[in-house]
Amino acid sequence: MRNARRHLFGSLILVLFATVLAPLSCVFAQHAAPPANVPYRNPKLSAEQRATDLLNRMTLEEKAAMLSGSGWMESAPIPRLGIPAIKMADGPMGVRSWLGSSAITSAANAAVKIEATSFPSGIAMAATWDTDLVQREGQAIAQEVKALGRDMILGPTVNINRQPLWGRNFEGYGEDPFLSGRLAVAYIHGVQGEGVIPSVKHFAANNEEYERHRIDAIIDDRTLHEIYLPAFKAAVQEGEVWNVMSAYNKVNGVHCAESGALLHDILQKEFGFKGFVVSDWGSTYSTAPTVNAGMDLEMPGGPPMQKWLASPRTQQAGNDSGWLTAEKVLAAVKSGQISKATLDDNVERLLRVIFLSGIFDHPHTGGGEVDTPAQRAIARQGATEGIVLLKNDGGLLPLDTSKIHSIAVIGPNAAVARTGGGGSSLVSSKYSIAPLDGIRERASSSVKVTYALGVEMEGENPTNADSSAKLLKEATEAAANADFAVVVVGRYPGLEGEGFDVKTMDLPEGQNALIEAVVKANPRTVVVLNTGNPVTMTRWIAQTPALLDMWYGGQEAGHALASILFGDANPSGKLPASFPKRFEDSPAYGRYPGNNLTVDYAEGIYVGYRYFDSKSVEPQFPFGFGLSYTTFAYSDLKVKPSKTSGDELVDVSLKLHNTGSRAGAEVVELYVHDGHSKIDRPAHELKGFKRVDLKPGESQTVQLTLDRAAFSYWNPATHAWTAEPGEFEIQIGASSRDVRLRAPFALAR
Ligand code: BGC
Repeated sequence: MRNARRHLFGSLILVLFATVLAPLSCVFAQHAAPPANVPYRNPKLSAEQRATDLLNRMTLEEKAAMLSGSGWMESAPIPRLGIPAIKMADGPMGVRSWLGSSAITSAANAAVKIEATSFPSGIAMAATWDTDLVQREGQAIAQEVKALGRDMILGPTVNINRQPLWGRNFEGYGEDPFLSGRLAVAYIHGVQGEGVIPSVKHFAANNEEYERHRIDAIIDDRTLHEIYLPAFKAAVQEGEVWNVMSAYNKVNGVHCAESGALLHDILQKEFGFKGFVVSDWGSTYSTAPTVNAGMDLEMPGGPPMQKWLASPRTQQAGNDSGWLTAEKVLAAVKSGQISKATLDDNVERLLRVIFLSGIFDHPHTGGGEVDTPAQRAIARQGATEGIVLLKNDGGLLPLDTSKIHSIAVIGPNAAVARTGGGGSSLVSSKYSIAPLDGIRERASSSVKVTYALGVEMEGENPTNADSSAKLLKEATEAAANADFAVVVVGRYPGLEGEGFDVKTMDLPEGQNALIEAVVKANPRTVVVLNTGNPVTMTRWIAQTPALLDMWYGGQEAGHALASILFGDANPSGKLPASFPKRFEDSPAYGRYPGNNLTVDYAEGIYVGYRYFDSKSVEPQFPFGFGLSYTTFAYSDLKVKPSKTSGDELVDVSLKLHNTGSRAGAEVVELYVHDGHSKIDRPAHELKGFKRVDLKPGESQTVQLTLDRAAFSYWNPATHAWTAEPGEFEIQIGASSRDVRLRAPFALAR
């Protein structure tokens, strides 16, 4: 009896606990902040331990709330637990204003304008082949991110230059996956070393702007692995990158933001990615399939997203968002479409990065300096090293100021600083140096500098036949009356940028005619290209003695150009992308932009020099090409099995000698040729490079190493990288078509 009563009492207590106290405690848990001594608040524990502890303290509602942004550039904070919002800013070439939508900020609205250092575009930085400099650039940008109170920079862009009309080729690192990967890792190390979150983008195969939200890129597994994914793989495995941004487009029928094949199978499983994935802005189209594929954070979110989505322009473009809101994610979890384990994995990825980056313990509140002398110096060094000397007949450059007393600076890109291409990467800088400014500043009082526009920039200023003829005449006269002419041609953000492709490989209207007229009026003319993409030159290249490519060089580009022209700096840039003679020669010609919203990457792995060099199509200028004011001799190539116990298989060494009379830097390029493969392989592939500075007359032994990956191809049958034993050739070149040294290497196993 007593036992029964005790039992009844016990049951009553249990019922009371189950019906009243437990729910109460749960409500309590939802509202009360955990005490200060909980493990996740302890900075001595690992990010992993802290993330796990914090995750266990979160309610389902809180977890669901983390999967979508709270604003245009902020993730959702959970104040109860002290989880901060991740505050983002666009990149990759500096910190762009984050207030308002991309469309709003690019209108240079004074009220929302944030100014920061404008670094050279990705293609210009790639032309430096200088990983150390790119790392310092990443670090400088990250310091500005912090100074401006942000946590994350949306870069680097590592999409491959598949064809010369992509509007965003200027943002990326060119056509080669190895070079892109090395530079991406450097940039990421620079950014993450400062506790700022980079975003390697756009995963994957975002290679055209045409219908970028609807286009379906059909790519075979080998091409994906050998060309379009290696830079992401390097970012994950060597850069240990904290964030990846998915691309707008579809790959093989599925939008990247909900592609389990890309996000789950490749990124997470194959590469071992531990960070979080953010959607590109407005690129989600479903709830459960997106979350289940491995998408961790939908951007943008909150009221700015709703307002933006309501606009017909956004809808017409094909953007969508608002699928990963707390309500929608919760409903999908409750109906079993998303498992709790999947939601936990997504949230844990976000938390891990919040701890790893340090923003949990030390939020970036801003207040530091931007555009410091040190940051400007990096921007200037990048712009200078990135300039490529493509032609220099008779040693016309550098300018000999003992003989040249007047210079005519001509062209639609001469007096205006065109620092970058259009779209989300364009930074508003405090100042920018146009070519004319740089040349004027550098020219001594004995050198007279004149200026003529020559031609209006297509689409920028309306013009008529009379005024065009007048502008051309003025330019021709200026050139004829000067000892030397500099013609700066190219595009501007309205013709080359995000959201649209470049219409044609030809220079904008009237610019070819301007070059022809100036070169005719003055045979001592240098043409300077100020674009992100190659342009057709057939009309004037033969008769033009000197040619430089300055790309979009950021705020210091004018200074950089002047120091190259006057010989204060020796050109050392090399092309990170092949320059075809005409678009018809490009391997993607006929397969771009695609039909019925489908683009077939049928050229496969034959992208850039892999095509030109394997199929014997002569480009205008080859990949890796760039001249100098000095000369270099290559000798003594030695190839030996590596003695290190690491992954290295081969030690390569050679002697490089500066045989000229000026100090200079040479980029030594290492290509591997596989002559015995069972499957079709390109003539050769870049697998190593080194930038070497040499004084006049100086020589140096250059050392490079190769690992197994350098000999491997992606075998679709086994779904693995394969290096076939047998004989390979190691080639050392000054460009992909200027191989100076060759040696065999037998891979034993
Ligand atoms: C671009 C991204 C950019 C994002 C945020 C998108 O339109 O594709 O590169 O980071 O907008 O501005």
